[in-house]
Amino acid sequence: MFCDSHCHINSADFATDREDVVQRAREMKVEYILDVSDDIADTPKIIEFCRNHPKIYTTVGIHPEIADKYPDFCVADFAEIVKSPYVVGIGECGLDYYYSSNTKDRQINILKEHIKASQEYDLPLIIHNRDSDADMMQILSEAYKMKPFRGELHCFSSSAELCNFALQIGFYISASGIITFKKSEELRNVFATVPIDRLLIETDSPFLAPIPHRGERNEPAFVVNTAQVLAEVKGLSVDELATVTTTNFLNLFNKIKK
Ligand SMILES: [Zn+2]
Ligand SMILES: [Zn+2]
Repeated sequence: MFCDSHCHINSADFATDREDVVQRAREMKVEYILDVSDDIADTPKIIEFCRNHPKIYTTVGIHPEIADKYPDFCVADFAEIVKSPYVVGIGECGLDYYYSSNTKDRQINILKEHIKASQEYDLPLIIHNRDSDADMMQILSEAYKMKPFRGELHCFSSSAELCNFALQIGFYISASGIITFKKSEELRNVFATVPIDRLLIETDSPFLAPIPHRGERNEPAFVVNTAQVLAEVKGLSVDELATVTTTNFLNLFNKIKK
């Protein structure tokens, strides 16, 4: 059984065929699906969807690309919504200096509030990081020294240095379709060093479809293609990789009742 530890099937890209997408995932033995929130305003709608779909869960977070939309955001804004049994993580949140370098200060403030939420509600953090390794390491390590928290680097495509740092603070590292791309040799080498009990797999649907679906809209069923490549990198069978990444997912997102 696989799990897709990070996707956005709540997005408008799936408006017309969301049920079919879930069905296709089930046919590929994708058991758990984490339908990640990237805007707190969308979380109530996703909770409703989860209510009607077994083994689909969600999170609450503000993506760094929309940092401008929430100038006064603070940890207390999550206090009610995290009580939902379907909200099992905080994020996605983080820093993105590739797309939104003009809002760095605001992104940093919002990230710090998410970390507080993770500490206060004991829910894992889902971190998005692009072109912001140094700031990310500094912010995570300072906060971690104050009070430890749990989490993952989602859609990991950063440096070995950031990967090692994240492993040291107990984080999980999630592989997306990027590891299937031809040019991702270096990234596959980084994943070769990640202990198997810290690996996750995801699609980040609708983005970043793995080979052989590259260029198509991504969907949870395609997590199997990423699993095949990661299994090869780790010297495991696809079944073993599926089992271990699903176990890891349930260990990290431990609010999910097995
Ligand atoms: Zn992301
Ligand atoms: Zn995402």
